[in-house]
Amino acid sequence: MNPVATIRVLLVEDEAGDAHLVRMKLGQSQSEHFDLCWAQSLTEAQQCLAASSFDVMLLDLSLPDSEGLATVHSARAMAMAIPIVVLSGRGDTDFALTALEAGAVDYMVKGDFGYDGLARVIRYALLRTEMEARNNLLVAALEAAANGIVITDKDAVVIWTNPAFSRLTGYSREEAVGHKPSDLIKSGLQDEAFYQDMWANLLDGRHWRGELINKRKNGSLYYEELNIAPVKNSAGEITHFIGIKEDISVRKEMEAQLQKLASTDPLTGLFNRRVFLERLEQEQAKVARLRRYSAVLLMLDLDFFKRVNDTYGHATGDTVLKAFAEIARNNSRATDIPARLGGEEFAILLAGADKSDALTMAERLRQQVAEIVIDHEAGPVRITVSIGAAILLADDVNSEAVLHRADAALYEAKDRGRNRTYWSCF
Ligand SMILES: [Mg+2]
Repeated sequence: MNPVATIRVLLVEDEAGDAHLVRMKLGQSQSEHFDLCWAQSLTEAQQCLAASSFDVMLLDLSLPDSEGLATVHSARAMAMAIPIVVLSGRGDTDFALTALEAGAVDYMVKGDFGYDGLARVIRYALLRTEMEARNNLLVAALEAAANGIVITDKDAVVIWTNPAFSRLTGYSREEAVGHKPSDLIKSGLQDEAFYQDMWANLLDGRHWRGELINKRKNGSLYYEELNIAPVKNSAGEITHFIGIKEDISVRKEMEAQLQKLASTDPLTGLFNRRVFLERLEQEQAKVARLRRYSAVLLMLDLDFFKRVNDTYGHATGDTVLKAFAEIARNNSRATDIPARLGGEEFAILLAGADKSDALTMAERLRQQVAEIVIDHEAGPVRITVSIGAAILLADDVNSEAVLHRADAALYEAKDRGRNRTYWSCF
């Protein structure tokens, strides 16, 4: 509080002698100036309130137009926002408490003001009102926050949650209070080590942040980013934890889409070159590591594809590529990696396949491609594919070797008249 500020006091007191005493006491204050307005009844007090504003009301309970606790109730109703300090002739503690319950912020026995007592009570009443207003403001901010907020005691038992917490988890504040969050929303999808790490940080007094999958009241799962801060008292002991939760399901979904975009060819939806080469390298390592495991690489190239583009246009060329990709996909097992390496160049990595599997698959695919007919106003468009096949060898230093062999086989298939599969003899 600013020490030179003027404090506007509404004194409601019917005894002139008592009013004089209050005026005198407040006039003695060194630290602030009191601007006093004196009303002798509730009716007069109402007129004062209508005419100007006040910081605090000093209220005598025995007035010509009101008596006892009813006076507090009436004054409260007239001036909701102003702290009321009750002045009474009684030194009765029980009555004082009743007055506080009725809405007064403090209570003083008349004639018992001491040197600075009354000024101090007023200062305290103002400070308390200011703190309450500030507290209400902070609670309103937490209530309005978009992120779920949960406050627990030191044993992680919930004592307060905000509406966003309820929107996120499906649990109302009443349902959450008294329980541990782990009893409500733990999905079981994080291992014990995850929670051990979290608690090791928190109990050490450190802030913790993590992403986890939790479970709503209705059983559905969601991704959340969780920030937890331990709250300590002045002795440095942890008294509470504050958890702030953000639903990141949408972000996770977008990340998955981006991941898909980054790993697939946009035209055909097949894997792109980068993913294909990674998987080929992994498969090469597997072949080198496991006896009796084999895998085959098919390199596929559409015959005379440039002619299709030049004759019928790029839109038709794209239709051909998509039709081919569809066949490649349909002939692949879940473990295979069909990919577009660029232009009209494709590859299929047949994981776990041997020569016989691979040649059967390649031949079936070649025939289906030869049956493709794309309608075009200039007449039906047909296409064929040449395929080079090579097996991954345990002795290969890396996947470059099999790529080279399959390429050579593809060249041989082209050289021998196209629309055929050639098996690398090396
Ligand atoms: Mg009186």
